[in-house]
Amino acid sequence: MFRHECGLFGIYDHEEAARLAYFGLYAQQHRGQESAGIVTAEGGAVFEHRGMGLVPEVFSEADLLRLKGRVAVGQVRYSTTGVSALRNAQPFLVRYQGRYIAVAHNGNLVNTQTLREELERRGSIFSTSTDTEVLVHLLARALRDTDLPGAVRQVCRKASGAYCLLVYSGDMLIAARDPHGFHPLALGRLGKSPVFASETCAFDLLEAEYERPVAPGEMYVVDASGERSEPFCESLPARPSQCIFELIYFARPDSSIFDEQVYLCRKRMGGQLAFESAPDVDFVLPFPDSGIYPAVGFAQSAGLPYEHAMIRNHYVGRTFIQPSQSMRNFGVRVKINPVRPLIEGKRICIVDDSIVRGTTVMTRVKKLRELGAKEVHIRISSPPVKFPCYYGIDFASRGELIAARHSLPEIIRKLDVDSLHYLSIDGLLHSVMHSDCYCLACFTGEYPLPCSETGKYRFEEPCAGPPD
Ligand code: AMP
Repeated sequence: MFRHECGLFGIYDHEEAARLAYFGLYAQQHRGQESAGIVTAEGGAVFEHRGMGLVPEVFSEADLLRLKGRVAVGQVRYSTTGVSALRNAQPFLVRYQGRYIAVAHNGNLVNTQTLREELERRGSIFSTSTDTEVLVHLLARALRDTDLPGAVRQVCRKASGAYCLLVYSGDMLIAARDPHGFHPLALGRLGKSPVFASETCAFDLLEAEYERPVAPGEMYVVDASGERSEPFCESLPARPSQCIFELIYFARPDSSIFDEQVYLCRKRMGGQLAFESAPDVDFVLPFPDSGIYPAVGFAQSAGLPYEHAMIRNHYVGRTFIQPSQSMRNFGVRVKINPVRPLIEGKRICIVDDSIVRGTTVMTRVKKLRELGAKEVHIRISSPPVKFPCYYGIDFASRGELIAARHSLPEIIRKLDVDSLHYLSIDGLLHSVMHSDCYCLACFTGEYPLPCSETGKYRFEEPCAGPPD
């Protein structure tokens, strides 16, 4: 099984459904660059188009014209390990007992293997390696005995892990978010039409009104008779476990998720970071783009000058997906490059949102040293990432996470920096409004939901990694 990070979009009853889905996905391209897809429906007919690549590469004008109908479900997808294939592109569309079912899913289930084996024992045949296909099979089975809302309810009760779902069948669109609320899903409105998106930046582009988040454990049902909200589980966990990394890094800064405006939240993280540890330097240097927002808060709070002395090539994808370390190093060089005259003889404080493998910082600090930087300090607006994520954020395996294998002094030596400070967990929680509503497993190893495939709450595997 492989993990995926994704962006979802859905719209009900709009004459431009396909085109709006296209733009809704375009705005959420950062959530997935591997493939994109849209399914639309008109009467009993459905139309689908999917492809590998970025949204504008996948859909031509002719493709959009072929996607007829007033309902659309779309997804951008980003698989992170192994298989990267068109057959895994979503939304999933199947025909079962004369009806079409379309499913788009964001997140990662933790009991996929168990569910899949059970389904296979009962005769299900799978054509992909995605957990979404497991959901589709469960749905189809449940539909033998109940209607679509009943089937979605049953599936959500069986699925364990992180999932935001958009399910379309007949004339009904259902949005659901897992009881822990790991990833964001928002409800908005364009005219009278309800719209759903992983992030509110999609609504901004369409000039749709953001209404509210789909709540953890909520199923929001839309059909010709109207709209209704239903809880799908009998009891919710005592508190949600929203993914704090969505706020730190993943979501777009112009979005609002988990009741937070992402830009402001990142700025507060930076301010808190400066409060914890601000070195005496000539200027603050953000690593673009992700370091920019905390760096603004950091520089303002520390009263330090701020220079965009590292320039981003915006036409490069995310570097950590490169398969080999040497290509990853090269990828970082392609992606961000220093402004030479600003560096020589200067005491610099780099701000970035996170260190995962350490590739970005290591290669760029080396360059800053070559260019004659006098001192290089690093401040990171998240705690050290030490544990893998089972719920849909792709991190390297534990052995590759620099903070899982090395102490702070060792990391300082490896990165060849004068000082390094990570935002404390308390400082991070101080930067958000509902501090008890977050999953911090990648920092603490305290998993809110056991991964039944490993049967572990805590990730305790020996931390062997590739040789340095
Ligand atoms: P690394 O170079 O492996 O230390 O990765 C750190 C950089 O990757 C930081 O600049 C982050 O902005 C970015 N990053 C952090 N987490 C992720 C993730 N899950 N997916 C993609 N990029 C990430």
